Amino acid sequence: MQRFRCFVAGIFLCMFFCAAATAQRTYWQQKAEYKMAVKLDVHTNRLTGTEQVTYYNNSPDTLHRIFFHLYWNAFQPGSMMDVRSRELGKIVLGLNEKGDTVRDWDSRVRDRILHLKPDEIGYDSVVTLKMDGRRQEIRYHETILEVLPDRPVLPGSSVRFDLIFKCQVPVQIRRSGRDNAAGVRYSMSQWYPKICEYDYRGWHPTPYIAREFYGVWGDYDVTIDLDKHYLVGGTGYLQNPQQTGYGYAAAGTKVSSPRGGLLSWHFYAPNVHDFMWAADPRYRHLSQTVNNAAQTTLHVIYKKDTASAAAWQEVLKAAVRALPFIEKHFGPYPYKQYSFIQGGDGGMEYPMGTLIAGPSLGTVFHEWMHSWYQMMLGTNESMYPWMDEGFATYAEGKVSYYYYHAYADSVFKDDPKGREITLGKLDKALPLGAADAYRGYFSLVESGLAEPMTTHADHYETNFAYGQNAYSKGAVFLEQLGYITGAQVRDSILMQYYRKWRFKHPDPNDFMRVAEKVSGMQLDWYQEYWINTTKTIDYGIEDLKNEDGHAQITLRRIGEMPMPVDLLVRYKDGHTEMHYIPLYEMFGTKPREDSAGRRIVHKPWRWTNPVYHLSLPDSVSAISSIEIDPSQRMADTGRGDNRVSGGIIIGRARHPKADLVN
Ligand SMILES: [Zn+2]
Repeated sequence: MQRFRCFVAGIFLCMFFCAAATAQRTYWQQKAEYKMAVKLDVHTNRLTGTEQVTYYNNSPDTLHRIFFHLYWNAFQPGSMMDVRSRELGKIVLGLNEKGDTVRDWDSRVRDRILHLKPDEIGYDSVVTLKMDGRRQEIRYHETILEVLPDRPVLPGSSVRFDLIFKCQVPVQIRRSGRDNAAGVRYSMSQWYPKICEYDYRGWHPTPYIAREFYGVWGDYDVTIDLDKHYLVGGTGYLQNPQQTGYGYAAAGTKVSSPRGGLLSWHFYAPNVHDFMWAADPRYRHLSQTVNNAAQTTLHVIYKKDTASAAAWQEVLKAAVRALPFIEKHFGPYPYKQYSFIQGGDGGMEYPMGTLIAGPSLGTVFHEWMHSWYQMMLGTNESMYPWMDEGFATYAEGKVSYYYYHAYADSVFKDDPKGREITLGKLDKALPLGAADAYRGYFSLVESGLAEPMTTHADHYETNFAYGQNAYSKGAVFLEQLGYITGAQVRDSILMQYYRKWRFKHPDPNDFMRVAEKVSGMQLDWYQEYWINTTKTIDYGIEDLKNEDGHAQITLRRIGEMPMPVDLLVRYKDGHTEMHYIPLYEMFGTKPREDSAGRRIVHKPWRWTNPVYHLSLPDSVSAISSIEIDPSQRMADTGRGDNRVSGGIIIGRARHPKADLVN
């Protein structure tokens, strides 16, 4: 019996340790090397091409199915994208200033797909698909192609797919297409059969409904043949500038374009997860190489006849000026080129370039910052859009704030009124550089349409909630993290996150682990409340009175979400004190953030306790004001009771029982 028990115990021990070993997540990612040769007919708007994809299965799994995206099949009447947009159009959000009904659908999409004619629709069609030379069975699921390989793809192996495909470029509806509102002929994004990402959560064959992307890291070698009168810009380094000309060849190079009506453009893009290009016969091309470590050449490509030519030239100047600040705060830009290209609608980010409808600097900075938050830190945007849109929005705010202050003399040289308005707006609204994001988040809370940030980007009940969550609440996440950890620590977190996770696929837990390690704080509660729930923050000053000659303050947590509290006390003699109450769950304290006045760290506030009492050395009569979080980085949904001045709560007092006159 004894021996038997040992044997059984041994089995249990093995089961325990083996399970523990396999449960450990060791990071891996797939790789895809693309080699494409395509030809675009500018008269029929059709493209034909060949595509080789060498696919490396670095996962520990045997793959019995492979999926590809065929995005352009979304631009057909009755597609999932069409139906989804029209369904959202039935939701009325309210009225605009003109009194018109505001519907929840994307105003660029509306019901436009339903009305596309046969020569206006888009399609991606795979004529043949081979794996290692053998033809494979394929199944179409609208925007997703399923491959049923005759042999499974084994862990650690690589296979080569050879595709022949043909496409029709859709009339521009959303992001990609032809003949956009500004008359740009071709905005070529999401245009080729693109292998879906497979990660530790499995395949991501996300149908194209509206939202953004997730892709496999790899190299792209792309040759594009088209009418020689078209100038092409896009992802990757042009390999044959001496044949293309159009401002790509070094000054003094003799351009020898081939005879015939077509010109071949050969691009190579290392270590990216997508490939975009744009083409137009009336593009103008500006470029400048900057003196960063990568010696990046910045390109600006816009329509010659546009009324905003001067503003497009300003884009290049602004990008050159902003890059040192961006690299210092968010990490080096490692690629040798980046292109700001007029195209698409609004703005949309791609590796080494963006398609922007106009030269607004806010959009320029936003899309460029996506080179960090999505193009290098390739989060799954369908699952975690806030890590992409929110982080880019946050960074856009910081870059804009810097740029308009540092270059005000030049930017507003002939526009003193514009200077006053722009800088006034930036300097008055708190938190500095992030006020718009907070406004957006508060509007979401007020709307009653909030959903947790864990919601899949395509599956929000409303576009509105998606937008405010992904962009605004996602940006507030980072600004508010600075309130919790201290702004400098938050900046170090972002830099460490960049160093550890660039060219990979970080998820929320990966970011939070970096944040915890760098800050030395427990931050799981922040992720739990802010990301996983719609619970809100609301603190208030409930009571201020004298006891034995000392001011006694009672604070109350009114909202469900607990937070640490900065409480600034201003005295009538002009001096100030920052009283800091850490949250118990943090198991740590924020370092002092500025050198002004005394700072007093109090005992942590336990979230189970709705109220917190603190006592000051002076009496109430010595105090001129008390304020919770004067930086306004804590997203307090009821700031009306955050400040007491002259014994009266400023704003909306919600606790009239408090005796505040003393
Ligand atoms: Zn964005």
